[in-house]
Amino acid sequence: MIDSLGRNINYMRVSITDRCNLRCLYCASGKFSMLGHDEIMRYEEIERIVAITSGLGIDTIRVTGGEPMARRGAMGFIEKLVKIPGIKKVSLTTNGTLLDEAQIKHLADIGLYSINISIDSLDAQINSRITGSDSFGGSYRALIWAVESGLRTKANCVLIKGLNEAQLLPMSQLAINYTVDVRFIELMPAEGAGGFEGVCASEILKQLEGAFPGLAPDSETRGSGPAEYYKSPGMKGSLGIISAKWSHSCQTCNRVRLTSEGFMQLCLFQTVGIDLRKLVRKGTSDEEISEAIAQAIFSKPRGIAPGGEVGMMSRIGG
Ligand code: SAM
Repeated sequence: MIDSLGRNINYMRVSITDRCNLRCLYCASGKFSMLGHDEIMRYEEIERIVAITSGLGIDTIRVTGGEPMARRGAMGFIEKLVKIPGIKKVSLTTNGTLLDEAQIKHLADIGLYSINISIDSLDAQINSRITGSDSFGGSYRALIWAVESGLRTKANCVLIKGLNEAQLLPMSQLAINYTVDVRFIELMPAEGAGGFEGVCASEILKQLEGAFPGLAPDSETRGSGPAEYYKSPGMKGSLGIISAKWSHSCQTCNRVRLTSEGFMQLCLFQTVGIDLRKLVRKGTSDEEISEAIAQAIFSKPRGIAPGGEVGMMSRIGG
């Protein structure tokens, strides 16, 4: 649907759980969200909201978390989402550690559009320092299985000074050897994220240009996100950069978020939106919910508020 600024909002990120099996330093190192069982949206409730929003023109869904695969029944839920009329693309963001080869193949078979696997380093020890557990093997295997299963695959990497900043080039090698889009995400100031310093987008680009002669913007569309992609001759995949405060792309922002407790958040950097759990649980009709969502989306904020900080990533889903 078109909002008051003429933006076409067709993309919803859905966090299905605030729980995660990892404790990434920049995401969940300090305060970690633990919503009560009743506070989390039930799958049927989310499916209903997705069906209602599809009637409003939301045709692209990303399932995220916490760690989405840590929630029991996630696979069956994804299978249902894919079949909701009007939904054209369902994608998944995961750390990959809870997926085996057969499950990834199954996701490809049921029509998952794409998979993003978060992996911050190709060095197992650095990875453990960041995630707080021995997660490298699980994430890396999932990445390779995803490529082999034919899924559109992206690797998400957040570069942190003093931790994994030197992983920029090793991670980039993945895009040379595999059909993977490796995306470097600027660290965002988020609740519970700890006092780390990220590597800024311009610095990332400078280093990539130095390392890959002929690196040039790649205009081929890859998904619905704010990443800017680059490619150099001979690369099977591409390299993407996601700027933390992509103010330049607020004008083209196409998304809303459904948090794990059912709050439709209209901007990552502002807690403005609508409590859909409350509406759903008090017996509101589909038509009324649709009207409420339409009004909320229409008034989606123009852009990031000054000094805006992201709330708890695990609830919002990144
Ligand atoms: N557990 C899943 C995963 O690891 O991909 C999904 C949830 S995670 C919150 C989604 C994405 O948000 C991940 O790619 C993660 O790296 C990113 N993320 C989390 N905290 C961040 C922060 N403070 N700044 C930038 N990206 C962040």
